[in-house]
Amino acid sequence: MRRIDLKSASVARSNTIRDINRQIVLNYVRERGPISRSEIAHETALQRSTVSLIVDELKANGLIDEGNGESTGGRPPILLSLRTADAVAIGVDLGTTRTIVATSDLAGRLLEQEEFPTNPDADKTIQEVIASVHQLLTKYSRTIEGIGISLPGFVNPETDELYIPHFAWRDIPIADELRAATGLPVKIDNDANAAALAELWFGRPEIREVRDFIMVLVEEGVGTGVVFDGQVYRGEAGAAGEFGHMVIGQGAPVACASGSRECWEAFASERAALARYSTSLRGSNGPPANNFIEFINLALQGNQKAVAALKETAHYLGVGIANLIQGLAPQAVIVGGPIVGAWSLFHEDLKAATESSLCRGFPLKPIIASTLGDEPTIMGAISLVLASKFASVSFA
Ligand SMILES: [Zn+2]
Repeated sequence: MRRIDLKSASVARSNTIRDINRQIVLNYVRERGPISRSEIAHETALQRSTVSLIVDELKANGLIDEGNGESTGGRPPILLSLRTADAVAIGVDLGTTRTIVATSDLAGRLLEQEEFPTNPDADKTIQEVIASVHQLLTKYSRTIEGIGISLPGFVNPETDELYIPHFAWRDIPIADELRAATGLPVKIDNDANAAALAELWFGRPEIREVRDFIMVLVEEGVGTGVVFDGQVYRGEAGAAGEFGHMVIGQGAPVACASGSRECWEAFASERAALARYSTSLRGSNGPPANNFIEFINLALQGNQKAVAALKETAHYLGVGIANLIQGLAPQAVIVGGPIVGAWSLFHEDLKAATESSLCRGFPLKPIIASTLGDEPTIMGAISLVLASKFASVSFA
């Protein structure tokens, strides 16, 4: 039970209940569509006339469409689905090596995407993002409703303050400049939090039913997004979820983004895996891996040194996940990032390391690969725009 916050409490308006019912109907259509008005009325116990009024409003707002279902003898039923005829959101996934800009429809299906290398010069990257967004807007200017940006660093989504350790970018005005250039609402967030939001709203059904889970995003660092009771837990200034800097040992193969060799990301990130592989090559003439994708491909081709470096990295990933399971008791842990491309090579090791690191009595929880493929971060950026359309009204 949530304690009421008197500082931000607003007295219930007469239309609060209507707002809640509207969100319920919209989400029935989103998750169960195509669905008829009477099925919604039956499942929600709302009156049929209430459902019809809400459906009319959602249709007028361009959120749902109707079509004919299969006839079972009489008149074919009219079925409701999410309106997916148009691109409604633009996502910008700004990564340490490349930036992806994509459009999506209301259901979170990616329609068009392009990518370019991220320029370490922040101004140049911002200008490239704006050019790319303008390109997409020439086609979809009438229907795009907002832009979401996912960033690999500390982000306060309320104030747009940010810090990206990899480039030492602090408070670059990417959101403001995109707002000025497009006139559209722009939201920014940390990549792991955004990816967690994407799993929550657009993941496969096996994760959409889960209300408490942790997204572990393995990239150049290790980021986590904590979903608690169906929402992303943010903490003060949006800084929660920095478990990549929890101390899990000493003498890691690389330093974390802040220079420590004791943090989880120093043991379990892409950089840690690459460092292990290049150390194992010393004195031999094995193929080098210039980046993590090359490394993953070597492992998938059966290169034993690459497989060994991957399994050792998975071991440390499991050690950290065991700590999270013991501290937060999630229903599931999701692993995301390019490493998921080699899931079959290491998931048994990951599970074994997690299980052996759990103290006796703590049950192992399901550890699953991201249900959004190996690019959960672009879906994260998109969901910053889309989730608010489906989210329930707050009871603050
Ligand atoms: Zn650290």
